[in-house]
Amino acid sequence: MNVELAREHAKNTKWKAIETLDKQLEIFESIITGRGAKVIWAEDVQRALEAIGRICREKQCKTLVKSKSMVTEEIHLNDYLGSIGVESVETDLGEYIQQLDGEAPYHIVTPAMHKSKEDVAKLFAEKLGTDPKATPEQLTLKAREILREKYVQAEVGITGANFIVADIGGIAVTENEGNARLSCAWPSTHIVIAGIEKVIPSLTDLSLFWPLLASYGTGQKVTVYNSLITGPRQPGETDGPQDMYVILLDNGRTNILADERQRESLYCIRCGACLNACPVYKNIGGHAYGVTYSGPIGSVITPHLKGLDEYKHLSYASSLCGNCTEVCAVRINLHELLLENRYESVREGKGDPVEKLVWRAWKHAMLFRPALNIANGKMKNWFVNKVAKGWTAQRGDLKFPDRSFNQRWRDKYGDR
Ligand code: SF4
Repeated sequence: MNVELAREHAKNTKWKAIETLDKQLEIFESIITGRGAKVIWAEDVQRALEAIGRICREKQCKTLVKSKSMVTEEIHLNDYLGSIGVESVETDLGEYIQQLDGEAPYHIVTPAMHKSKEDVAKLFAEKLGTDPKATPEQLTLKAREILREKYVQAEVGITGANFIVADIGGIAVTENEGNARLSCAWPSTHIVIAGIEKVIPSLTDLSLFWPLLASYGTGQKVTVYNSLITGPRQPGETDGPQDMYVILLDNGRTNILADERQRESLYCIRCGACLNACPVYKNIGGHAYGVTYSGPIGSVITPHLKGLDEYKHLSYASSLCGNCTEVCAVRINLHELLLENRYESVREGKGDPVEKLVWRAWKHAMLFRPALNIANGKMKNWFVNKVAKGWTAQRGDLKFPDRSFNQRWRDKYGDR
């Protein structure tokens, strides 16, 4: 496979899907409802949670098994289920570890990547009473033993969708542990929750997207389990859920769709490659972002999903090195979209007036060297480290040299 061609082709396919999003979703809905699934359109988090709550009440659900899904993190599903008395159990091993530790996922693909095997052994020992020196194999077997029991108890299973396949009315789920297929096939009710942008037009597109997602996500040629779910159990079939619901979540995605420049951020297949390549993410980690979608793609979309006012700072916390764009599986111009967010926040008058003044002064000084040289090194150090303090609130002191660049130049080369 020519990877560069594949990425280009994937971008074009997602372009087509997003440009015709309304039609693709309607095709999907009409086909999957024809096989007995129910499609629920959720405009925001509240509506999605209400729909899940209603289904849980109808099914008298006490225990729910859940496979890894960033959209369920986005709507804070576990907190909500806890508040209505439903036990929600994460079945992906990484997510299970994070749930035991009371932490949000650290990475969109590998949620517990910041924990060592010793950390996990200690956690399991505290929470599940295992040997603190247990090996990863022993810990996995313990999790498996507990989770198998939960599958049997659960009345409802929830999964996300890696792709919504329009022309067959199907949901494609990709995973490495087999927990997603157990979550959707074992309980008598299956709920899928997916962002509306997850659509791809055709089944044949999976021959491109499945290997692309695997390669860019985890470096595999293809992920271990790839399931296509096209409805609840049909007459004559011996397994699968009796009821299936698909919740299509907007929650700000149509704001992005309406913005011609930002629209391409909806092509994202959540492979996580941009996080792995980002020098900022590598240094500060996923939790420092304080939002569901961390890293470059998170900094691009979060201001649109949750509001520019509160989340515009994410687009500023980037060196704009372009590494994210370089590695993106579907060639989203991520660093340009970060710049676009900055431009948008200034255009909408959301810039910080103090910052504006500082930049104006900086520009003036840069264009007029004598102004920059008025203060000597000591005065600059005192002003930046003791008076302004904005710089030193999160960093070490700055140390300006005693003599300015101009003076040192003159010392060395005279006035030429
Ligand atoms: S923006 Fe690109 S690299 Fe980042 S998660 Fe999405 S598809 Fe992967």
